[in-house]
Amino acid sequence: MRVYKFGGASVKSSAAVKNVGEVLRTQADGPLLVVISAMGKITNKLELLVDAYFHNKKTKKKIYDEIKQFHQVIIDELQISENDYYEVENLLIELECIVEKRRDESSSFDVEYDRIVPFGELLSTKIVSTYLNKIGYKSRWIDARNFVITTNKNRAANVLWDESIPLITNSLKPLVEKQTIVTQGFIGRGLNHKNTTLGREGSDYTAAIFAFALDAESVTIWKDVDGVMNADPRKFDDAVLIPRLSFNEAIELAYYGASVIHPKTIQPLKNKKIPLCVKSFLNPDRPGTIVMESDQKTLNETQCYIVKEDQILVTIASKDFSFIVEDNLEIIFNAFNSAGVQLNLMQNSAISFMACFNAETSKVEKLVELLTNKFEVTINEGHTLLTVFNYSDSNSELENIIAGRNITLEQKSNSALQLLLI
Ligand code: ADP
Ligand code: ASP
Ligand code: MG
Repeated sequence: MRVYKFGGASVKSSAAVKNVGEVLRTQADGPLLVVISAMGKITNKLELLVDAYFHNKKTKKKIYDEIKQFHQVIIDELQISENDYYEVENLLIELECIVEKRRDESSSFDVEYDRIVPFGELLSTKIVSTYLNKIGYKSRWIDARNFVITTNKNRAANVLWDESIPLITNSLKPLVEKQTIVTQGFIGRGLNHKNTTLGREGSDYTAAIFAFALDAESVTIWKDVDGVMNADPRKFDDAVLIPRLSFNEAIELAYYGASVIHPKTIQPLKNKKIPLCVKSFLNPDRPGTIVMESDQKTLNETQCYIVKEDQILVTIASKDFSFIVEDNLEIIFNAFNSAGVQLNLMQNSAISFMACFNAETSKVEKLVELLTNKFEVTINEGHTLLTVFNYSDSNSELENIIAGRNITLEQKSNSALQLLLI
């Protein structure tokens, strides 16, 4: 039994969906569960729709129409017949009915987000599954929310393994044995029976959840790149493919922000030693990258570059010149946690603490509000965080990459060099 995952880029157009059909027809072998994300950049559009709906903006109708039109064009180009199309149409009607009404004033933004954004995955899986059946590749659509049971925490739900595993093994496994199953990434259901989502880009993680519970022999995530490379090829022309990676190296790469794999994906696979293949849906015959259990380092001399743009540097200094030690650090970390800020790099000195994190205006405002009574808080925008993983002092590329920018923070560990640049 194997698990495949197709992300947004692999289903961004009718030609892309046809290509998925071709990959399945030529590569799939034996029982298979296929996890699919929302098409193209539709999740971003749905986020705009939630915002417009929640704040009752005039743009609501226009955004909905764009989402409908985008899917409609793909359906038309795939020549899906009206008989098969009604389920997709029902989903679009359901979405329209939700956003047409004024929202319930007592409902929170995050609850509404999880009610609306999953439509991206529901629509894409219905379309792909219908198309596969049309071309004679038998598949069955299932609703991932019946199997991925989570905490009620909207937009960042945690999987409840004890609830999910029996459902997947008892009810889903027998179905996968019979025919290819098509299901959604990213979405789940809370114990309160309402929709939840696992955090942006969470579909890779969904594939790992199913693989763990199904005891799959492997997971393949199909990407628009040849596999995991030593840098994002969109940013580094000379990026090279990494053919083999250990689970530990992959966890670290994902932790530092190599966005090719969602950070939570590796742990469940490592626990059951299920290999992860990262392959190109454009060149499916190429070997790609295999991530697997290994005691030895597989990266050898290859140094990996991870760039995170749009970083905010916060400097927090005590107003009364008290040292930034345990008591003050407790207050500072509680504030980061309450504001929902995840730190990418931190450093402290006698009377100040500096850290950087991804720019998100609402979180910054909340953080400043929480800290400003006790501390002097300074915010600086527009930084870039460069991480060199598997760093060696003999690195001759670094100066070129830094290209004359100033280094605001610098940190070196056994495995990585991190530089905050402006
Ligand atoms: P998905 O379609 O599954 O959502 P993503 O867009 O999230 O795929 O991931 C693929 C993209 O990740 C590539 O197009 C590439 O630009 C980017 N990327 C970032 N870092 C790396 C890396 N180290 N190796 C390969 N691709 C990377
Ligand atoms: N569609 C979701 C997102 O864009 C989940 C995913 O693609 O992995 O974040
Ligand atoms: Mg993605």
